[in-house]
This record gives sequence, C-alpha cells and structure tokens, in this order.
Amino acid sequence: METQTLRDLMVEHLQDLYSAETQIIKALPKMEKAAHNTELKDGFRMHLAQTQEQAQRLEQIAKALGFSPNGKKCKGMEGLLAEGEEIMKEDGNLDVLDAGLIAAAQKVEHYEISAYGTAIAMAKQLGEKDYLSLLKQSLTEEEMTDKKLSQVAESTINVKAASHQASCET
Ligand code: FE
Ligand code: FE
Repeated sequence: METQTLRDLMVEHLQDLYSAETQIIKALPKMEKAAHNTELKDGFRMHLAQTQEQAQRLEQIAKALGFSPNGKKCKGMEGLLAEGEEIMKEDGNLDVLDAGLIAAAQKVEHYEISAYGTAIAMAKQLGEKDYLSLLKQSLTEEEMTDKKLSQVAESTINVKAASHQASCET
C-alpha cells in the first residue's frame, strides 16, 4: 500500500487500531480468568463489552470512509499481549500476580490512548468531523479504564501485594 497522503496514513492507523482491538477482544476473557481479585475480574469483563463496541465503531468508520478495517496486524499489541501471557503463566503470590496483570493491562490501555489520540488528531486535521465523536468516545473509555486499573492497584492490590512482601521478609 502506498502512503502518499495524510488520509492514507490515517487509514493505516485505523486498521492497526482495529487489529489491536480485535486482539484485545480475544485476550480479555483470558485476563478475566487469570485475575484473582473480583473487582479486577469485573473490570476486565466490563472492558470486554466496551472493546467490542470500540471495534464496531472502527468498522462503522471504515465503512463510511470506504476502506476495509482488516489488512493490518498490530505488532505492538501482539507484543504487549504476549507479555501479558507471560505473567498469566507464572506461579506465585496471587496479589503480586494480579499487580502484574494490572501492569500489563495498563500498557495495553496506554497504547490505545496513544493510538486514538493520533487518529483523532489526524481526523481533525482532515476535517473529518462525522466520526470524531466515535473516536473520542473510545478514547474516553480507554482513559477511564486506565484510571480504574490505577485505582484498583493503588487502593487494594498493590497494598496486599506489599503486605505479602513484609511477611516474606520476616
Ligand atoms: Fe480498546
Ligand atoms: Fe482498552
């Protein structure tokens, strides 16, 4: 594919994002299963429903702009999810493993926040106002998910994981 215009580049970014979202849809049920903390499990389940909607929004945008959402593999997300798989395979203290799972999930969210931010900036520059709100909606959901993960880590899981550390040292 030739990348001559900013629109070409935006299409590539949207295809990459669609690949990222579809990979996350496959990964989230595994993350839900691997999580031990109920709040974390619920969070992953909730974000799966949101992620399915986000993929649908990208399909909608692709249709409106006349391109296929498929055609690109998001290697960045493939790598981040492979790292997430590593922590899921590990044995150890359940709270510490949950903290690791949150860290992996937040890397995923940050990737998405960055990618949606870029897509929004390109869409704005190109005067594509029709689907700007769809992209912004997805960006807001990713930001909220990231905040919620921080909150679960800081209020509960990191605290418990750290208390395990104290009991290991004594
Ligand atoms: Fe997403
Ligand atoms: Fe997300």
